[in-house]
Amino acid sequence: MRVTKADRKLMRAMNNRQILQLIRQYGPIARPDLAFQTGLGLSTISIIVAELIQAELVREVGEAESTGGRRPSLLDLNPNARYAFAMKVAPDRFWVSLVDLKGKPRATVEVPLIPPVPWDDLAQMAVKQMETLRTKHRVAKRWILGIGVSTSGLIDPHTGVCRSSPLLGWNEVPVRETLERMTRLDVLVENDVNAYAFGMWAQENEGGRRNLICITTGPGVGAGIILEGKLYHGSQGGAGEFGHTTIDLHGPPCKCGRRGCLEVLASDQFLLARATDLAGMGRSARLLGLVKEGQLTPASFYKAAQAGDEVARLIYRELGEHLGCGLVNLINLFNPDKIILGGEGVVAAPFFMDTVRQTVKNYAFPHLADSVEIVVDDGGEEVWLQGAALLVVEQFFQIPAST
Ligand SMILES: [Zn+2]
Repeated sequence: MRVTKADRKLMRAMNNRQILQLIRQYGPIARPDLAFQTGLGLSTISIIVAELIQAELVREVGEAESTGGRRPSLLDLNPNARYAFAMKVAPDRFWVSLVDLKGKPRATVEVPLIPPVPWDDLAQMAVKQMETLRTKHRVAKRWILGIGVSTSGLIDPHTGVCRSSPLLGWNEVPVRETLERMTRLDVLVENDVNAYAFGMWAQENEGGRRNLICITTGPGVGAGIILEGKLYHGSQGGAGEFGHTTIDLHGPPCKCGRRGCLEVLASDQFLLARATDLAGMGRSARLLGLVKEGQLTPASFYKAAQAGDEVARLIYRELGEHLGCGLVNLINLFNPDKIILGGEGVVAAPFFMDTVRQTVKNYAFPHLADSVEIVVDDGGEEVWLQGAALLVVEQFFQIPAST
């Protein structure tokens, strides 16, 4: 078979990315180690490394221990060589972040909104913030790889259209198309829990974990599923509608039109409805007081539990049992290495995690339950934004399949 000029170009591009990936993963690393890892000759490695240094993607950061003879210099990724923007949208605010190649945010701005804000206006505001960040931090436009957007709702990952988000009041919003038109940058749109899971996976990846599930609880319940190191979308982007898996066929109605969804039984909605019921039966004077004053909110409910209200604590344990039941199903289906619980609801994790763990122990398949690590992440917005930006960064590091 004849090797064409195009074949050679592709091979060169593939080697270039492979070496960049190795430096990203194992740096600081010396040229001979790259040759050993790839099976390429040292002279080829040196040529490619020179190109990467020329493009400012890689830099020399010191010298390795000598194994006799001259000490080889060490190479590492230059995190400031390229950047991506991240954008996260909530009903009453949005965030924009400038993130480097290692996923570290250089700067983040949070902009409050008075809803409803039409998508076009919101996009314009976000693009303006991106421009301000870029100029303030003196990043040339050609160093920006693209924009990663995370929003709630059902997203078509191929078209970047938000098919529907009840939380944002969006239907068929062309997120990618609008931002690409405004910025001429590549745009990737992802469901927010998926972006969160991807950000978490990037942090966890050093442990070599392949299967990770992130679950969020709070105003709603969601799941982002990473299988074999890749976000799992399902055939229409709807995988991870974990909140609408059925826990109780005869349970309370859900806004999706069905009954007994996990979301009605393990979100803020459950806490408030159950508190109102039990307070009405005279079980807790404190909760009844909150109901009567119209002051029953997830925050005041949490305070009641903190102050020792036994009924509030009982309700958290009930929520833990429902959430645990959801976890049992995920564990039996996917056999993950790790499950991370995040979202606003985890402030109250000390009140429900024991029950979650006990439910998993009692109901999941024993071998699967023993091997999964379940942890709580009570960090802030950062990882949600990092995840969105890293989706763009990841694409940059992909080994090309064609020129
Ligand atoms: Zn539902």
